[in-house]
Amino acid sequence: MNILLLGKDGQVGWELQRALQPLGKVFALNRHSDASGLCGDLSNYDAIASLFKKTSPNIVVNAAAYTAVDKAESERTEADVINHLAVENLAKLCKNYQALLIHYSTDYVFDGSGDTPWLENDDSYPINYYGKSKRAGELVLEQTGVKFINLRTSWVYGTYGNNFIKTMLNLATSKTQLSVISDQVGAPTGASLIADVTAQVIRYYNLQSNARCQELHGHYHLAPTGSCSWFEYANFIFNNAKELGEVLTLEDVSAITTEQYPTPAKRPHNSRLNTQKLQTQFNLHLPHWQQGVTYVLKELIHGK
Ligand code: NDP
Repeated sequence: MNILLLGKDGQVGWELQRALQPLGKVFALNRHSDASGLCGDLSNYDAIASLFKKTSPNIVVNAAAYTAVDKAESERTEADVINHLAVENLAKLCKNYQALLIHYSTDYVFDGSGDTPWLENDDSYPINYYGKSKRAGELVLEQTGVKFINLRTSWVYGTYGNNFIKTMLNLATSKTQLSVISDQVGAPTGASLIADVTAQVIRYYNLQSNARCQELHGHYHLAPTGSCSWFEYANFIFNNAKELGEVLTLEDVSAITTEQYPTPAKRPHNSRLNTQKLQTQFNLHLPHWQQGVTYVLKELIHGK
């Protein structure tokens, strides 16, 4: 089986490079050309077409995306090119090659109202441009008729790349006071969990009949169990970092509202995702969010 991995150097892409290896021959690419002349720049349609020709993928895993949420408000075209138009191009190529497209999307396709975990078929009303561009990408998956599995996830972190955990650790060792938002709730999701679940999804899919595979195509929510606010998440990081021997300068952490911390892009208050469909359809168990955060904290602090 040939697997084409795009966006190999992002948080999720990095972990996928590891997790996909036992499944088949993996062609892992970033936007630059590799030593054999393969190039995974999503905005270069000729390069992507040539990539399909040279690798004949059975599965394409697209971990590449425009993920700068605030910048997307002023860089709408750039966000749209990668999160929408490039996905359409990929979907059409996958359809021609009869390849399964595994794609990632976000809790930001929802408006964040209420406090119930979102279901896959709940109405999508994104409140920022990043969310709109990601939703446009999801719609082209549906419209092209490609075989796809779209994993919506939330609040991604990992040992590789920039994320909330690293930002909090840096601030906790350089500042004495910090304010963190307490009225946005979601589940911090490890890039390694996303990659491992992706590998399990592919393995399960490949063992099914054509009819069952048809049933499996569609949108899924992928996040650990439990939920927290950014404020609770930050305190969990600080308490664990202290237990792991990190010396913090931080003395005071206060909770603030979204209104008190204005950003160019609006953020949803309720980012909880209901993951029952993923767990049932693929026979998976998802861990509590604290498990993965603790693991990464140990890697970051003890690995220094
Ligand atoms: P990252 O920002 O860590 O990685 C995205 C990768 O996409 C980067 O390596 C980037 O490369 C690459 N990329 C951007 N433009 C192109 C292009 N034109 N061609 C090829 N590669 C390109 O994202 P994550 O790993 O965190 O996100 C993975 C998926 O999860 C995305 O679909 C994202 O929307 C989704 N998601 C992420 C969340 C988060 O909190 N991060 C939350 C919810 C969903 P370069 O560095 O060269 O720009």
